Amino acid sequence: MKNYLTALISESAIRHNIAVLRGLIGHDVKLCPVVKDDCYGHGMDVLYPVLAELADGFAVASPTEALDLRHRGYEGFILCFLSAYFDDYDIQDELVRQGITQTVMSKSALASAQAAAERTGGTAPVHLKIDTGMGRLGVPARQAADMVTTIKETPGIKLTGIYTHFATADEVDKTATVEQLKIFKTVWPVGGDVIHHAANTAAIIDLPETHFEMVRPGIAVYGCHPSEQLHNRIEFKPCMSVMAKLIAVKHVPKGSRCGYGLTHEYDRDSRVGIVPIGYGDGYFRNLSNKAVVRINGMDAPVCGRVSMDQMTVDVTDIPDVQVGGEVEIISSDPAAPNSVENLARLADTISYEITCHLGHNMQHVLVD
Ligand SMILES: *Cc1c(COP(=O)(O)O)cnc(C)c1O
Repeated sequence: MKNYLTALISESAIRHNIAVLRGLIGHDVKLCPVVKDDCYGHGMDVLYPVLAELADGFAVASPTEALDLRHRGYEGFILCFLSAYFDDYDIQDELVRQGITQTVMSKSALASAQAAAERTGGTAPVHLKIDTGMGRLGVPARQAADMVTTIKETPGIKLTGIYTHFATADEVDKTATVEQLKIFKTVWPVGGDVIHHAANTAAIIDLPETHFEMVRPGIAVYGCHPSEQLHNRIEFKPCMSVMAKLIAVKHVPKGSRCGYGLTHEYDRDSRVGIVPIGYGDGYFRNLSNKAVVRINGMDAPVCGRVSMDQMTVDVTDIPDVQVGGEVEIISSDPAAPNSVENLARLADTISYEITCHLGHNMQHVLVD
């Protein structure tokens, strides 16, 4: 971790986003934020206390992420999307002891949960995942009924939920999503106190009929939109800004070049700043010669290629630039050229990838 790179995480933005999401769902619908990959790179250390107070549960990808939440003291509902199939027995067993809800998406996943229940003498709560068209994890819908029966007959296992995941909910054309929804509904009813859930952020925004008893928002919690197509329909507030400090400032004569491949040439006598962030810190290399950072509120273009641990920015037009000066790598203002969404556009990716990559090498600090 580099303590000269700081991600400032706004508590009020998180509270705002959760309130907006709550406003979109019914009062009795549970809100279960998805906090996989260290809260999409925003930092579980700072976000846990805020989210634990606001959420009805948490969804994570891996068993170790689930156990981490218990170690932080979380006593509520935790859903783990992946199977513990490849984890050591002590992790598999701990999931059962800690009452963490595992996903069953295959007979092998069911068998490993059952074995852990047997070893610990406990009961493993599970949610069955149905593949309704995403073609990723999940039991094919036509096998769902059989699987439900099998799960119900398996000792040590308690079926508490059934869910699916949408492939195209973030597109304007909802044909495929509506089809997935139709298929999902054919696996009902299951009876008992089994809950159903399907909605990611995009479906929460666009398809109220998918909210059922629980929703699983990820990206909107952190203030970004799930896609360009759903952009600006709802006012989420990006919660993260990323700051660095200039580690050098120097003059370079007209005609000089910079960076690997010497891909940038200065067309005037210039002043440049060196910023200690690079693709090793998750700042995308394909932002080379495209993105800007901001210094004293003004744009400083990234010049030449982004290296592993540093990059060069043009500060010729910015007064009062000094070594040690603050550099805003990511702005929390969605309209800024260095907002997560604008950088995602420039890097030809999605905001999710920008934030996940950026989180790992820096200190996270909770602000207002
Ligand atoms: C990541 C994930 C989500 C959250 O999706 P967003 O688009 O970030 O809201 C929901 N459900 C599952 C199964 C996921 O893997």
